[in-house]
Amino acid sequence: MEKSLITHPEKPLFIEHINEEHQDDLVNIATVLINNINIAKQGNADMDINTEIERVLITEIYHQGIDIQVNYTQRPSETHFIAFPAPIEQLKELQSQYIILKQQTDKKLGRQSIKLRKQQFTFIDSFLVTANMYRLLLSTSDDIPLEQAGYAYLFDLESPHKPSQPLSRQHCYYTLRKAWHTPTEIDTQRQTLAWVDVYLHGDTAGGNWARSLKPNDVISSKREFPEKIQHLDDGKGQVLLIADETSLPTVARLLELWHNPTPPIIISITNDPADQDYLTHDIGTPAQQATIIPISQTAQAELVTTIEDTIKTHISDAGIKIDKVWGALEANTAKTLRKRLKPLFDLPRGDFVLKVYWRLNNE
Ligand SMILES: Cc1cc2nc3c(=O)[nH]c(=O)nc-3n(C[C@H](O)[C@H](O)[C@H](O)COP(=O)(O)OP(=O)(O)OC[C@H]3O[C@@H](n4cnc5c(N)ncnc54)[C@H](O)[C@@H]3O)c2cc1C
Repeated sequence: MEKSLITHPEKPLFIEHINEEHQDDLVNIATVLINNINIAKQGNADMDINTEIERVLITEIYHQGIDIQVNYTQRPSETHFIAFPAPIEQLKELQSQYIILKQQTDKKLGRQSIKLRKQQFTFIDSFLVTANMYRLLLSTSDDIPLEQAGYAYLFDLESPHKPSQPLSRQHCYYTLRKAWHTPTEIDTQRQTLAWVDVYLHGDTAGGNWARSLKPNDVISSKREFPEKIQHLDDGKGQVLLIADETSLPTVARLLELWHNPTPPIIISITNDPADQDYLTHDIGTPAQQATIIPISQTAQAELVTTIEDTIKTHISDAGIKIDKVWGALEANTAKTLRKRLKPLFDLPRGDFVLKVYWRLNNE
């Protein structure tokens, strides 16, 4: 195939972002597309197919596809070209082609994938769960996951009530804290209700949007993202969860649906100590059985060291072996923490998931 290079000043940044934050996707795309694997067809969705791949890096972007360098643990690295389903004109179209590649890969792996579709919600009510965690009670259509932790929606922050200032961002991911069906008061037709918990931290686009909503406002999302928590599903081993205010809604739902006989250890990070009650607020027994280690009032710059010290004191020195990790934090914190914890836990990539949920803006 004839390949022509994409030229754009932001191309290196884009490549760096995907290589840093979407390693799992890249490894899956490489494994499935290079080897033409179709696990869904073979009916073995749990098979760990990429144990021999160490790392996959995008090295070049063309109008027609990407070059990836696949580094193996036991053999020399290889470079492969992965064609886009449809060639792109500009760099900004890369995201949609990347999403299609991811969807194709997930389908072949028999996994849920990111969905590009509009979902509408009607705002009913809101209240503070803890000092800064603001709960939206919404009604929606019934095709929403009821028994899945960490399912997130990319909400359009355009409020039906015009803000006084232009928005600093147009969209924001918020997790479905919980959803359930209920009969309505008027008739027996079921209604689907949902909670979305928004962390309020000053004058920000997401928080202002949440606070601006009034009963019967219709809000919408344009993309849906199932969190990568399949590795926690087999109900075995000691799980460590590391979450701040943005990922605690996922941890809360994980706790409600917990079926592993070994309760998880949770590092719960909140700026305000008053938000430490969030996990125990409306969760019963599973939360009481979990070991919750609070970290509060720690500057982002010191957070990695504090988390590391906490793990050493409460886990390593106590002789506890961690079998699986899930967490989601600020971008630089997640990046540095991954590097520091990798040698400490020595887990396969699929059992060590530390995601980026937000980005510190130092402007
Ligand atoms: C898959 C996914 C699911 C998510 N689920 C949730 C959820 O359920 N609830 C939730 O509240 N968030 C959730 N988030 C994070 C949410 O999308 C971010 O918090 C969002 O970027 C913050 O938007 P904002 O408008 O409040 O602040 P921004 O406009 O992004 O930032 C404004 C300022 O606030 C700072 N800032 C941003 N976030 C934080 C923070 N968490 N702590 C301290 N300072 C911050 C920034 O550095 C910046 O200076 C999720 C993110 C992802 C990717």
